[in-house]
Amino acid sequence: MTSVSVNIAYIVAAVLFVLGLKMLGSPASARRGNALSALGMLIAIVVTLLSKGMVEFHWIAIAVAAGTVVGALASRLVAMTAMPEMVALFNGSGGIASLLVGWSALFGHTQASTFTASTASLSVMIGGVTFSGSLIAWGKLAEVLPSGAKLFAGQRFVNGGLLVALIVCGVLFVLHPQPDSPYFIAVLVIAFVLGAMAVFPIGGADMPVVISLLNSYSGLAACAAGFAINNNVLIVSGSLVGAAGIILTNIMCKAMNRSLANVLFSGFGAARAGAKVEGDVKPIDADDASLILEAASAVTFVPGYGMAVAQAQHVVQELGELLEENGCEVSYAIHPVAGRMPGHMNVLLAEASVPYDQLVEMDDINPRMANIDVAIVIGANDVVNPCARSDETSPIYGMPIINVDHARTVFVLKRSMAAGFAGVDNPLFFGNNTRMLFGDAKASVAALIAALKG
Ligand code: NDP
Repeated sequence: MTSVSVNIAYIVAAVLFVLGLKMLGSPASARRGNALSALGMLIAIVVTLLSKGMVEFHWIAIAVAAGTVVGALASRLVAMTAMPEMVALFNGSGGIASLLVGWSALFGHTQASTFTASTASLSVMIGGVTFSGSLIAWGKLAEVLPSGAKLFAGQRFVNGGLLVALIVCGVLFVLHPQPDSPYFIAVLVIAFVLGAMAVFPIGGADMPVVISLLNSYSGLAACAAGFAINNNVLIVSGSLVGAAGIILTNIMCKAMNRSLANVLFSGFGAARAGAKVEGDVKPIDADDASLILEAASAVTFVPGYGMAVAQAQHVVQELGELLEENGCEVSYAIHPVAGRMPGHMNVLLAEASVPYDQLVEMDDINPRMANIDVAIVIGANDVVNPCARSDETSPIYGMPIINVDHARTVFVLKRSMAAGFAGVDNPLFFGNNTRMLFGDAKASVAALIAALKG
């Protein structure tokens, strides 16, 4: 293939990436967007293989087969609740792939040019940090490693020192870019150590933000590798991932009302435990709850991680439909960090065919909350915890929440009084207008449906 036709194909692939990303912005077009981006990637890969005149196609075939098997198995076997762990591993794979591609650019030269040496060492630095950081993030989320925040004395000093050492070794390598340079080996080792040391102190509750940041790093590493091997489509796709990751990181920080520096260095939950909450709990059964629902004219569902665990989305949709038939206005209030990954609730509700126009974002539902007759909390906890507004000692203080306590009545569906992800008590459960409907969310919603129908 001529270089012109290769670059035209790369432009087509880049346009498909951008269109695909745009379509991912709405649940209605997300599937098509994903398919479009995948088509762009297929074009990029096929064209690259053809243009490079690869002679070792059998190795590539083996890698494609292995990757296909892993991808297909992962998509079928990994539970929705374990998706953040999988994303962490994917980010790590992206990081190590970019590291290897960048590194390979140094082979075949007795002395690489300054440009190749700089871009290759950048891809090794960022790729190495992404790889080891992602593995630690996976370990924390999978609870193979202690998931809490683990601050240690002099943590910032040690990590700052490692960062300076990484940059100094990178510069020394670029000044003398021999393939066997000890400075290059030092860059490799320090990058791995820095990634692990930077992520290890961060608590599990902040992992979604860290994973999003690591996603951005994996894109930057790919972009640097693209410069190192002079591949335009790798530069474009790496930049897109880098930018998308940093935008998502920013959105998540805003959703938690925290700065990125606070997420990375403060050890969320390490020092603050929040005030102990006590009071009377008012349980309710499905029959009594159904009477209140029957009379309600505005109901909002507030799903959280427990809905994903119970796989209650289909019965929730059925209950919503039943209430609508009864003349009730139904909405679904979505918190940006409900569940265990960005967009978790949107994905589940879309799977259950909840109409998109009934999904309402936190900032839009909160001003309307006082006019809601019943807010039904389905396995959510932290994202509806009023401590975030009022208790300065709480680890989640400052995180914007869905103000379900402002609704006329609140039903909380969960199995026990156990805390949520952040491990803090929730005064909502003791509120005057709160009724606890204990049990597995799917069973409780099914009981509500039966009671309403009966
Ligand atoms: P929480 O983790 O705060 O609470 C979930 C609740 O669901 C628990 O209190 C649990 O109570 C209940 N539950 C679990 N299983 C069931 C079941 N089968 N039936 C009924 N209830 C059940 O979830 P939220 O969605 O409110 O908050 C998300 C938290 O996760 C936030 O702290 C966020 O920062 C964090 N996070 C978010 C990520 C994201 O990107 N969205 C990623 C990683 C973390 P019980 O055991 O009593 O049933």
